[in-house]
Amino acid sequence: MSGKNVILEFTRLQREVLELSSPAEQVRKIVDSISAIVATDVCTLYLMDKDQGMVLMASHGLTQTGPVSIPAGKGLVGLVATSRHPINIDRANSHPNFYYVEGTQEERFQSFCGVPLVHYGKVVGVLVVQRVDPVALSDESEAFLVTLSSQLAHIVADMPVTLQGAHFNTYIRAVKGSSGIGIGLSVLCDHGDLYSVPDEPCPDIETALEDWQQLLSKVQNEIKHEERTLSALLTDNVSSIFSTYSSLLADQALIQKVEIEIRNGNWLPGALRKSIQYFGDLFLAMEDPYLRARHEDIHHLGNKLFATLQGSNNSHAKKLEEVDQVVLIGDEVSISDIAAVPGDKLVGIICFSGSSMSHTAVLANALGVPAVMGVGMLKNLRNRERFIVDGNSGQIVRYPNDMLCSEFQHLIDEEKQLTNKLSTLRDLPGVTPDGFLVRMFTNSGLLADLSPGLKHGAQGIGLYRTEIPFMVRDSFPSEQEQTEVYSHVFRVYAGKPVYMRTLDVGGDKQLPYFPITNEDNPALGWRGIRFTLDNIQLLMTQVRAMLRAAGADGDLHILLPMVSATNELDTFNQLLGEAIEQLSDENKEVRRPKVGVMIEVPAAISQLPFWCKKLDFVSIGSNDLTQYMLALDRNNSRVANRYDHLHPAVIHEINRVVSIARQHNLPLSLCGEMGSDPLAVILLIGMGISTLSMSATKLARIKFLIRALPQNKAAAILQQCLQMDNVQEIRALLHHTLHEFNLHELIK
Ligand code: PEP
Ligand code: MG
Repeated sequence: MSGKNVILEFTRLQREVLELSSPAEQVRKIVDSISAIVATDVCTLYLMDKDQGMVLMASHGLTQTGPVSIPAGKGLVGLVATSRHPINIDRANSHPNFYYVEGTQEERFQSFCGVPLVHYGKVVGVLVVQRVDPVALSDESEAFLVTLSSQLAHIVADMPVTLQGAHFNTYIRAVKGSSGIGIGLSVLCDHGDLYSVPDEPCPDIETALEDWQQLLSKVQNEIKHEERTLSALLTDNVSSIFSTYSSLLADQALIQKVEIEIRNGNWLPGALRKSIQYFGDLFLAMEDPYLRARHEDIHHLGNKLFATLQGSNNSHAKKLEEVDQVVLIGDEVSISDIAAVPGDKLVGIICFSGSSMSHTAVLANALGVPAVMGVGMLKNLRNRERFIVDGNSGQIVRYPNDMLCSEFQHLIDEEKQLTNKLSTLRDLPGVTPDGFLVRMFTNSGLLADLSPGLKHGAQGIGLYRTEIPFMVRDSFPSEQEQTEVYSHVFRVYAGKPVYMRTLDVGGDKQLPYFPITNEDNPALGWRGIRFTLDNIQLLMTQVRAMLRAAGADGDLHILLPMVSATNELDTFNQLLGEAIEQLSDENKEVRRPKVGVMIEVPAAISQLPFWCKKLDFVSIGSNDLTQYMLALDRNNSRVANRYDHLHPAVIHEINRVVSIARQHNLPLSLCGEMGSDPLAVILLIGMGISTLSMSATKLARIKFLIRALPQNKAAAILQQCLQMDNVQEIRALLHHTLHEFNLHELIK
């Protein structure tokens, strides 16, 4: 069979399988179809359960009187799984590994060809074809099966491994959105598809026009209500998103377009679809990036109007009422979806798409709700399905059994106990038993993040991500607006250092009103300082606002993201000089701030000795540094298991940065995720890093570690790790160290 035919056959099979709603029907379809395509007497699909056993999911040709499971590593099926290699033989029963499965009447079939199903490097099952005749499969058919299986693995990987109807725990690893663990029942955020609504004759034009007016005012009220609910919990930044919707709703052009469509004889849903499509396309065709991005808002608004029209908002509200511990789940979980969950019922958020920088993740963090992003499309999803959302490790568990739920519940309880125990550390210094002092700063970005930092004893803000106030708006904030936001930060952190980073958009952090599209490699593209230097008017406005907000007393440190070349630093310093001069001319009281760069791009490391004289400090952005060192996208769930800040190459490079900074007396801090990972902190303390910045909720546990682990011990562990060439060995040693100091509860 030619390569093209394999793809055609697979595409057809995939389409047919995905049309079926239950996994049982899907596996049956798979075995029946493959048996027909390859012309064999038997086709059987085995999937691996959590104990590595092989569970027979479906068979075309084998008799199955009860559940069938082959123990781990047993038989030809086990051999295919462990060797990860096809076995194609004419007489199965003369092979030394042959294992007879009771009750299947397998003895009738002599030939055997088994191929492994591999999903992201892990064997998830084995596909077997058998024939009565003792004739091995032709090379061509074997090659076909191997190719088909490589595709098939992606369809079956997420299926529940079912034996006698019992569901096992299906882990799906994705991207961390917001930390914490939640266990609850799913409520789907799927409000119908406006774009598949057909045109239909309008039975009563006058009534349809009235319905349209009523719909408008109903949705206007809903938006006001949602805005009130969320604003009470967060900041007024959020309200700008809602006001975009309100002004679109009040737009006469949209209102009249729907009316015209109805008068032309289309029913209300059809008139709405046509009008939303019309305006969406109109905005999409605009050259101005801000106006073009309004297309997304029109699309969201259209869906919201349609959901209200269908009454699916009501049924959504009803679904929410029926569930006590809600896990919101959908392709996109919108701000409206979150606002609709009453009280403290929301225990988790799961998004098929999105990254840690999505609005949803930003909000989840601010609300303290665990969230996992980018899990990919989940098939056969229902309301009220039980899920575990583990935002700490960026994974979810589908079909968790009671035992697993109680294990996770135990973790949730322990976490609460630990938090209570650690709360006593708030005002104590982060000092090791042998006297090494570590300044404990917090990362922030939403106004709602400010007080948690202080509550947990932060001594300053080590990273203020200014892009977040830019992201939750519908246009660039003015100098005055920015000054107000930043002034608030200085008021709350009066007398404490504040490291404010200039706008770091691009890559995975997109502004809704300035989308940076058409880049093949966004992470390597127009982002960070590259973007702001090319839009120098934005940078000037932002720097002026920071200087004005800091005034004469604020301890402002300006932090530059993604710097990789000397001229970027020089251009910025020149701009800063101009901004100070301008403000002094305007009689504003300003002081020269400290200026530093993030060490995120590997190129910055060898350049650092040249930059030392131009800099007041540096801060290591371990998230991006890991991404660029390892060439692994930090938001790609497919490579999430490879992305690891404890990779030996990352540790060596960070150690190099620390030595360079020490040689040149350059103050250094670290503000990436590494600073809140207890394992990594052992190494960072060992290197002598004396300023760490992390999310507020992690401060106490890292302080607990620092106060328990002598720096000279950490330095010795670091030396051992620097001799290791693989992350597994490094992790094992660090785990061992935590156990030795009775600190393992910090990483449960
Ligand atoms: C980093 O890259 O480590 C960092 C702190 O910046 P961000 O996560 O905002 O890219
Ligand atoms: Mg970064």
